[in-house]
This record gives sequence, structure tokens and C-alpha cells, in this order.
Amino acid sequence: MFDAEYDVVVVGAGPAGTAAGKICAEHDLSVLVLEKRQEIGSPKRCGEGLGKNSLGRMGVEFNSKWVTREIIGATCYAPNGRFVRINYDGPEGWVIERKVFDKELAYQASKVGARIVAKAEVTGLVRADDGKVDVSINYAGTPYKTRAKMIIACDGVETKIARIMGLNTTMKLNDIAQGAQLEMSNIKIDPDRIELYFGNDIAPGGYIWIFPKGDDVANVGIGIRHPYGKESMCAMDYLMRFIESRPELKDGSIIEYNTGGVPVGGLLENMVADNLIVAGDAAHHTNPIHGGGIAEAYIGGKLAGEVVVDALLNKDISAKYLSKYNKMWWDLRGSKMKNVEKLRKVAEKLKDEELNFLAEELSGDDLVEFTRGSALKKLATIMMKKPGMIRLAKELL
Ligand SMILES: Cc1cc2nc3c(=O)[nH]c(=O)nc-3n(C[C@H](O)[C@H](O)[C@H](O)COP(=O)(O)OP(=O)(O)OC[C@H]3O[C@@H](n4cnc5c(N)ncnc54)[C@H](O)[C@@H]3O)c2cc1C
Repeated sequence: MFDAEYDVVVVGAGPAGTAAGKICAEHDLSVLVLEKRQEIGSPKRCGEGLGKNSLGRMGVEFNSKWVTREIIGATCYAPNGRFVRINYDGPEGWVIERKVFDKELAYQASKVGARIVAKAEVTGLVRADDGKVDVSINYAGTPYKTRAKMIIACDGVETKIARIMGLNTTMKLNDIAQGAQLEMSNIKIDPDRIELYFGNDIAPGGYIWIFPKGDDVANVGIGIRHPYGKESMCAMDYLMRFIESRPELKDGSIIEYNTGGVPVGGLLENMVADNLIVAGDAAHHTNPIHGGGIAEAYIGGKLAGEVVVDALLNKDISAKYLSKYNKMWWDLRGSKMKNVEKLRKVAEKLKDEELNFLAEELSGDDLVEFTRGSALKKLATIMMKKPGMIRLAKELL
């Protein structure tokens, strides 16, 4: 079933894992990508929003087969119903079919030589005396063994692989958003725009989204954060309460039901150990303000692949050599994400009346800039107009 040895074993075949596998295979390394689920991309735990800009950063070619809907704008609602519109000149992103998208990334990696195997869980990793790693696999109920020079851990938010290899990547409860998401049909929506709803009663520490997938079909979901919600209510409770309160949603059909965690901070200074690199959600790469992680995971996976190719070429897979990955990620994404994390820490503390005030003051373009970690000084200046917000505004500077 498996070769006795590979240059690289990648754990997890989400966007991070397939990106890492593809890069390694393109550079003629033998690479095995293992996915514990029986189907790549399923069950999806995702709002399925993907910006044009993000796809560009990933370097992945557009393919209409994974698009359900082109998006030409967004409407962001404050708790009092006041809204800010983000208008684009044309299609600026898509609501994708994640199950098709992730499989397409896997096809692309396999096409260049990465061996991908679903229903294959990595159950153990042991560094051997010869400097390689013994890998235990459970494939469809049967145990197998193989070996690898390098492990790339792309095992998502519930990651265990890094810890098994001696790198503590544990997330604090405060750095994980609780997500819940339904695919709904026969609902009344704006089919061309995404809608976002904010408010401490609506989605404490987070937001509700409606991402259209057709004229009357949408991915409807929520992210909330500990410790802002009520102890007695989970993310799905908040989402159902919102749906019940909306005539345009409440009688809709529920076609799919998913829940999951999203890393929204706790960025790691160190994401490597001897024989190991971590990428994607497992390395907390996700954008801390909106929880978008497809592009971030893919970019992290690509970088990990590049560093592994270089390390194997130079015959040095020590943590010291691999640590160039930390610098590369922080230069490319980390510093921006740190700014975004700063914004998240402020945004989650805003009271409803402060959110209402900001909806009066901000434009759609401002909101886009802020989610990219830019123009935070501008936000601070606006917040300083309201005496009660001065202390929070200072946290942005
Ligand atoms: C509710 C919700 C909504 C979201 N909405 C969006 C959105 O709209 N847009 C966006 O960009 N991002 C969104 N995200 C985030 C996005 O889904 C993730 O950031 C992204 O999937 C991370 O990719 P990844 O490859 O790091 O991890 P994953 O996609 O989670 O892949 C990790 C894989 O590793 C596998 N695995 C784990 N352990 C093992 C093992 N031991 N052996 C083998 N395989 C293993 C898992 O089965 C999994 O398939 C959302 C997340 C949630 C939870």
C-alpha cells in the first residue's frame, strides 16, 4: 500500500497539505499526503467565501467548476440595522463549493506526483536514531508503517501532530472561535452580495454571515468567541435564534449542518522542530478578524514545501535550519496578521452602541482595509471622536 520510505509525509489534505505536497512533488521529492477523512473536503467546515485577491495570493488558477456564485459586494449590518455597503466594480470573489475546491487542489498536487491517500490517519510518529521518522498509519482499519525524512503537519485546527513531534502549538481557548454553519435552501437572499451581521446579542465576539450559493441557497453561519457569549448558548444556538427571527430565513430548508473551531490569533513565533514544519490552521495561520483561512493555509503550505525542498537539498533538516520558515512566514503574512489580531482584540470589546457609531462613520473601503491589517490609525482616529472609545482606540496604535 505504501512505500517503505518517502522524502516527505504530509499529514492532512486540506489546502495547506495539498499545497505543501504539490511543491514537494514539483521538486521531485517523493511525497505522501495522508488524509484521515474518507473524502477530501468533506464534511466542509467553512463559510466558503474566497476573495479574488486571496486566490491571486495563492497562485491557484481560477476554475469555474468550484464556483457557486460570483460576489459583487457585501453589506455589513450594525446591531441597530444600519448598514455599510462594500461595492466592487465587478466580481470580487466567490462563494465556492469547498468539497469541489479542496478536491481540485488535491488533483493538482497528485498530477505533479504527490501520492494522496484518503481514509489514512497518521496515528504515530517516532524520530529514529538514523534521523528519520517512523510513521504509523491506519488506512481503512488496517495498520501500516512507513518512514520519512520530513513531516509537514497540516492537520488543521485539532492538530496533534506537532505535539507528538515535540512542538507545543496548543491554542488558548480565547484564540479559537466557535463556528457553526448551515447550508440553507428556499430562503430569500440577495444572491450577489454577502451579508454580515454584528452585535453582542447576535454573535458575541464575532459575526453572522449569509454567503449566497444560488438565487435561494446560501451558506449561513456564525463565529462567536469565548468569553463573550452566554455560557448556556453555543454558536449553533445563536445561529438558530437569528434564523428564527428572520422571516426570509426561518422557513428555509437545512441541507447541511456543520460545526467547527477557527484559530483567530495566538500566532506562533516558532513553527518548526527537527524533521517538522507546521502549516495552515495547525500553525494558527488563519486571518484573526474574519476567520478566513483557505488562502492563508495554502500560502503557509506552499512556504513549508519550499523550505522542505531547500532543506533536503542541503541535507539539513534540523530545527535550526528549518527556522528560516518562521522568518519567511512572518515577513510574508505574520506581521500583517499580528495587526489584524490587534484589531480583533479591539473589535470584540465594542459595545452595540459603539458598533452603531462606527457604522455611521466608516465606508466599505475602510472595512476592507482594516480586515487586511491596514489603516488601523484611521480607525483609531475615528474611534477617538467618541470619549468612551478612546482607551480602546489607543490599543490600535
Ligand atoms: C465554520 C467555519 C467557517 C469558515 N469559513 C471560512 C471562509 O468562508 N473562508 C475561508 O477562507 N476560511 C474559512 N474557514 C477556515 C478554513 O476552513 C480553514 O482555515 C482551512 O480549511 C484551513 O486549511 P488547513 O489545510 O490548514 O486545514 P483543514 O482544511 O482543516 O485540513 C486539515 C486536514 O487534516 C486532516 N487530519 C487531521 N489529523 C490527521 C491525521 N492524524 N492523519 C491524517 N489526516 C489528518 C483533517 O481530516 C483535515 O482534512 C472557516 C472555518 C470554519 C470552522
